Parts: sequence; C-alpha cells; structure tokens
Amino acid sequence: MAALTEAGLLATWEAALGQGPVRRALALATAGGAEPATVADLSVGRREEFVLALRERCFGATFSCAVTCPSCEEELELELGLDDVRAAPPPDGENRITAHGFEVEFRPITSRDLLAVRRDLPDARRRLLERCVLSARRRGRKARKVPDEVLDAVAAELSTRDPQADVRLDLDCASCGHEWRSPFDVTAFLWAEMEAYARRLLHEVHALATVYGWSEREVLAVSPARRRCYLEMAGQ
Ligand SMILES: [Zn+2]
Repeated sequence: MAALTEAGLLATWEAALGQGPVRRALALATAGGAEPATVADLSVGRREEFVLALRERCFGATFSCAVTCPSCEEELELELGLDDVRAAPPPDGENRITAHGFEVEFRPITSRDLLAVRRDLPDARRRLLERCVLSARRRGRKARKVPDEVLDAVAAELSTRDPQADVRLDLDCASCGHEWRSPFDVTAFLWAEMEAYARRLLHEVHALATVYGWSEREVLAVSPARRRCYLEMAGQ
C-alpha cells in the first residue's frame, strides 16, 4: 500500500482527535483499510492489524521505542520490526472450550463490546466476557448463568484465539540481564507518533503561512526537506 500523504495523515489525526481509546483505534483502523461499516464488529486483534497497516504506511516498518528496565531502571532503546509486534496467527480450531463441566462456545471481543460496557462498573469484566459467550451448556443442557471460573477460562483462551489483541514483547536488559514481558499497544504507539508529527506539521504550516502567505495546501505541496530550508531561511 502506498505511503499516506501528509494531508492524509493530518485528516486521519483530526478524525481521531478528542476520541476515547476505542473510537480512536476504530478511526485509525479505518484509515488503515478497514471497512467503516463493519470495523467495530471485527475482533480487537483484527482491528489492530489494520492499525498496524496504517502505521507502516505512515512511518514504515521499524519501531523505535524507549523502555525502562523494571529491575535496574536503566533507560533502554529498542528497535523493533513488524515481525516483533505482529502476533502469529491463531491456532486452527473452533472457539470452544470445556471447563468446570461447562461447554462454552465464544467469540473474540470486538470494539463494539468495549464501547457497550462501561469500564468503571464493578462487573465490567464479567459483562464483557458474557457478551462473548455464544452458548454455554452443562451436562447437555443450556446453562442460564456461566460461573466466574468458566468465564476466566474463556478469558484465558481469548488471548490465544485473538493474539493480535494482546501483543507482548519478550525483553531483556543489556545492563542487568533482567528478563520480562511487556505489553505493546500499537494504537497507543501510532497515536503518539501521529500527534507529534501532526503538531510539528501544523507548526510548519503556521510558520510558512505567516512568512510567505502560503495556504495550508500550498505548504503541504512543498516537500519536508524544502520546507526545512524555507523555515531556516525565514529564521524559524
Ligand atoms: Zn536492568
């Protein structure tokens, strides 16, 4: 897929600006190629694959990260590739488990689920997992209520069935040798990059519009390298 233009990046940033994390992820996934009408019903992992596609179009396939070692607090710089942050596909098989005498058929969590369940409710996790249960049977009969321990078993299975929803990196510290696992949130990562890029771009538009009287469209038509030269010449 072709790289996103700077005007496209600004439009995407604007669409996601001021949104909560789920709606922002949906806006980014849509910009990454997901269908607007159905993106909320994709599993969270599938949605993240579209966000990852957008990340590649905007900023390429290398991720430069800074992390702090939880043991010695050394600041570490990491360079990750797409393979590091792209989960392996889920194993074949149905979304079905047998646990504590219950047979449960389930589906992965979607963005629509996350939007429907208020996270500040004390039973938010249970409500979220209940939405994913398609059927539950005990001794061949339909179960009216699924106990917590069975929902826990569903939750444990969800990360296996929708691995891109819960990416974890195996990290080790070059300084003290400590090894740990850290979650990697591609939407949060891309959003931070996009925020920084968009605000720098708007600053350039403002500076060049002020000095030369160009419109936003005219500024964006000038390449980044030339813009930097014009900004230098304008003493910015
Ligand atoms: Zn360390």
